[in-house]
Order: sequence, then structure tokens, then C-alpha cells
Amino acid sequence: MKLKDKVLIIEDEQNISNFISAVLTANGFDVLVAGNGTQALSLITSHCPDLIILDLGLPDMDGLDILREVRSWSNLPVIVVSARTHEQDKVLALDIGADDYIEKPFGTSELLARIRTAIRHTRTSLDNDSIARSGKFSVGGLTIDYDKHRVFVDGEDVHLTLNEFKIVALLGKYAGKVLTYDFLIREIWGPKAKADNQILRVNMANIRRKIEENPADPRYIFTEIGVGYRMLDGES
Ligand code: CA
Repeated sequence: MKLKDKVLIIEDEQNISNFISAVLTANGFDVLVAGNGTQALSLITSHCPDLIILDLGLPDMDGLDILREVRSWSNLPVIVVSARTHEQDKVLALDIGADDYIEKPFGTSELLARIRTAIRHTRTSLDNDSIARSGKFSVGGLTIDYDKHRVFVDGEDVHLTLNEFKIVALLGKYAGKVLTYDFLIREIWGPKAKADNQILRVNMANIRRKIEENPADPRYIFTEIGVGYRMLDGES
């Protein structure tokens, strides 16, 4: 099985979010849905999606404000899906940092193609940035496959999200060394990332739940309190 990407749909019209949700689930994505901006911002922080589909007309805020907020600390791909069809609306959304803009109504295959492209760009940048490494890293029962972007524990694929994989990949690349919270946040979420450790902590809790037998007493990734995280030194 391949690593499932987690998509957050931010959309107040339930028939549209149900439709997008069904299409994505059928195509192998994990799906989260937020019906308003407040709920969306909270889900972004607590669930760390790999991609966001964003409607602009929300009941409690303008979708562009959500985009601004996300872009103040993250490079995570955002596709705007909107009924606003003026050239200016598109230019503004793209200027703020949307990866793509789809006009309503839209077709299923178009939506899927744009999502795949946005995720492929993220993965390509994964190969070009500091996380890049080839081959495998192993320590104990843990193996990071840098070519396939997968992590195995005792031979089982642990299905990390893209961001979880990036964190583990980076720690594995520098195994034995402490990587500071700031360094990890900058490397994973971009140079403009907020100095806020909450998202990193949520990701780490999810990673430990997936790779550690006892997340409270980790064997592979250690917390250096007040400093950062360290991966057990490897055999390769
Ligand atoms: Ca709407």
C-alpha cells in the first residue's frame, strides 16, 4: 500500500464537500472536512493535512484570510475552488500563495489532476531540498526508504503522511545528532514558519504512535527537552 495523502476540504456547502470527499476517498486519499474558517484553522493545526482544498466564500471568514494565515508559516499546497471567476480574484489568490485555482463548477478529473500536480510538486521539492538522500537508513527494526518515501517498522509500512515522512527523513539523515525545533520547523514548513512548536509536537505524537511500540518510552526518536529531537544513530 502506498502512503495516503491527507486532504482537508474547507467548504460550507455540504453537497459540494460531500461530492469532493467521495471523489477523493474513492481515489485513495484520506479526507477531512471543515464547514467554516474557525474549524478549518483548528483542523490544520491538529491534523496537519498534506493538501488543502479551499472555498473562498465561508460563513465566518474569507477563505483568503485562511490562505494568508497558512502562508505565514507553511508551504503546504492549497488549491482554491471558487465561484469567484474574476481575473482579479484569481490573481489575488495566487499572489497570496495559492498553488492553483479552480472555478466552480468543475469536473472530477480536472480536480484530481490538479491535486496530483500540486502533491507531485511538493514531492519533487522533497527530492531537491535538504531532506534529499538516496538509499535506505536502518536502525533496529526501523527502515527509512528515501527513494520510495516510506518508513517500515519490523518490515511493516507504517503509512506516514507526507509531513511525518519529512520529519523522520530529516532526523534519519542526521541520526545521532539533535535537530532543534526551529531547524525542523524551517526545513519542513518553510523559512517563514512561525516559531510555534505545536504542529511539530502533533506530528511527532502521530509519528511515535506509528513507529514506537511504547510512544511514552521511545526507542527510535528521542526528545531533548527544550532543544529538539534526535534519531537513534544508525547502522548505515
Ligand atoms: Ca461557499
